[in-house]
Amino acid sequence: MRRTCYIGELNEAFVGRTVTLQGWASRRRDLGGLIFLELRDRSGTVQVEVEPNAPAFAEADTVRAEDVLEVEGRFQPRPEGQRKGGLADYEVIASRVTVLSRAKTPPFELDKGEGVAEEIRLKYRYLDLRRPEMQRHLRLRSRAMAAVTAFLDAAGFVQVETPMLTRSTPEGARDFLVPSRLNPGEFYALPQSPQLFKQLLMIAGVDRYYQFARCFRDEDLRADRQPDFTQLDMEMSFVTQDDVLDVQERLLAHVFREVLGEALPLPFPRLSYREAMDRYGSDKPDLRFDLSFVDVTDLFRGGEFKAFADAETVKVLAAPELTRKQIDELERVAKHNGAKGLAWLRREGAGVGGGISRFVSEQAAELIERTGVAPGGTLLFAAGEWKRAVTALGAVRLALRDLFHLAAAGPRFHVSWVVDFPQLEFDEESGGWTYMHHPFTAPHPEDLPLFGTDRQGEIRAQAYDLVLNGYEVGGGSIRIHDPEVQAKMFAAIGLSEQEAREKFGFFLEALAYGTPPHGGIAWGFDRLIMVMSGATSIREVIAFPKNNRGADLMAGAPSPVSPAQLAELGISVQAEA
Ligand code: ASP
Repeated sequence: MRRTCYIGELNEAFVGRTVTLQGWASRRRDLGGLIFLELRDRSGTVQVEVEPNAPAFAEADTVRAEDVLEVEGRFQPRPEGQRKGGLADYEVIASRVTVLSRAKTPPFELDKGEGVAEEIRLKYRYLDLRRPEMQRHLRLRSRAMAAVTAFLDAAGFVQVETPMLTRSTPEGARDFLVPSRLNPGEFYALPQSPQLFKQLLMIAGVDRYYQFARCFRDEDLRADRQPDFTQLDMEMSFVTQDDVLDVQERLLAHVFREVLGEALPLPFPRLSYREAMDRYGSDKPDLRFDLSFVDVTDLFRGGEFKAFADAETVKVLAAPELTRKQIDELERVAKHNGAKGLAWLRREGAGVGGGISRFVSEQAAELIERTGVAPGGTLLFAAGEWKRAVTALGAVRLALRDLFHLAAAGPRFHVSWVVDFPQLEFDEESGGWTYMHHPFTAPHPEDLPLFGTDRQGEIRAQAYDLVLNGYEVGGGSIRIHDPEVQAKMFAAIGLSEQEAREKFGFFLEALAYGTPPHGGIAWGFDRLIMVMSGATSIREVIAFPKNNRGADLMAGAPSPVSPAQLAELGISVQAEA
C-alpha cells in the first residue's frame, strides 16, 4: 500500500479523510487503555491514537521505539485544549497498524539529540540522522547544491570532474597517499583541491568550470575541519578580480534567497587584509557587530610607559564594564593567542582607574575621547609587534562577542570580502619566504618590482577570501598566466627551476601553450552549510563525518589491513615504537 503523503504534508485539507502513513515509532505511551504512538518520517511527526476496541490494538500493543510502521486511520483535529500548533493540532485515529520491521532498543534516545555523547551519535549515525534536525541539515545542503547548480548552469559554467587518484597539489597541507599496486613503490596523492586541474581546464578552453569537489588534507582536526571535505570549486577565463567577485556575490545571494529566503545586501563590503587585521585582528572578521580597535601608538611614543613607548603598535578595544574575573579570563585568551599579557584600565568618571591607569594618567583624556569608552567601561590594550598584537586583541574581541552576545544584535548573516592578501609570508620555522595562498596566485601588477627586494613582504596578491559571520567560507585568486612572473614567484619562495619542474612540470609545460588570463575561487561548502543552518560544527552537516581524531566510528575506519593486501602492495608496516 502506498502512503497518502509525507507526514509533514498533512494539513487541514486532510481532516476527515482516511490516510496511510509510513515511518518510525518515535514514542509510545499507554494512557487510560489507549495507546498513543508518535509516528515520524523525514518530514514530521504526528500522533496516532489506537483505541482499545480497534482491530489495530493488538498489533499496536507490540510496538516499541523505532519500529517501522504503516498506519492507516482517520485524520482529525485533536480535542480542543490539546492543540499545540502545527501538526500537533491533529491526530490519526488508527484503523490498522502494521509493523513492517522491528527495531532493537536504540543505544540512545533520539529526542535527546544534542545532549547525547557525540561518539555514540557518530557510531550509530543512521539513527542520529533520523532526528528532525539532522534531516533538516541534509535537505538544506541538498537544496543549496541544487541552487548552485541552477545558477551556474544558467551562467554558462560547465561541470567537470577531476581525478581523485592524482599527484600532490600545492595547498600547503599533508597529502593522503594511496599506494599503487601496479607500480610498486609508487603512490598517488588524493587531491588537496582540484587547483591544477581547474587551471588546466582553462588552458583547455573550457572558460567557465565548476565542481562539487571532494578534497583531502591530512591536518590536525578542529571543530570546523574534516580530513575529507567538499569544496564548491570554480574557475573562469578572461576575467579580472572584479568579474570573479561579481559572479560570486550574485551566486551566494541566489543561494541564500532560494534556500533561506534571506536577502543578502549587494555588493558585499570589501576590506583589505591590512585593514581587517588592523581594525579587527583577523583576516576573517566577524562583522555582525562593529567593535573595532583604536590605534593609540602615537599617544605613547617616546613616553614614560616603556611597555607601550617602544612598541611597534598599541591598539585598544573599548569593552563594557568587566569584572576582575572576566578580565583574567580575557587575559588568558590574549596569552593563548600570542600576547604576553592584557593591559587594561577602567573609565571612572572623567578619569581612569585600575590596571595600568597610573602609568597612563597623562593620556587618560585622549584615550577616553578616541575610544568613546562609557563610564565604568573597560579599555583593553595590546602592544608589541603589529601582527602579534592585533591577532591577540582580535581573539579578545571574539571572546567579548561570546561573553556579551554582541553578534545577536546584528544581522543574522554578514558577508564580506577580504582582499589584497600578502603574496608572500615569512616562515620563521624554515627562515624563508613562502606563498600565502598558493604558488600560482598572481601578484598585483604594480607590486611586481618588489620581487627579490627587501620589500617582498609588501607584495599584494590578487587573492580574496569570502567571509561569513567570522568564518572563511571561500578563498581564491587571479592566477599567474605569464611564465616569467611564475618564475619570479618560484624564485621568491626558494624553489629552484628544477624543483619546480619535478613538482609541477606537467602544469608548467601546459602554461607555455597559450594560457588565458584566469582566476577562480573555492567555497568550503561544509562550512557554508554549517553557518547557514546555524550548526556549530561541520560534523552536523556532513552525513558521515569523522570524529576529531579522523576516525569514522561507525564504519571503523581507518583500520588495519590484511598481510596479503600489504604484500600485494609491497608494503610492510613498522611496529609502533
Ligand atoms: N584551490 C584553492 C583552495 O583550495 C581555491 C582557489 O584558489 O580557487 O583554497
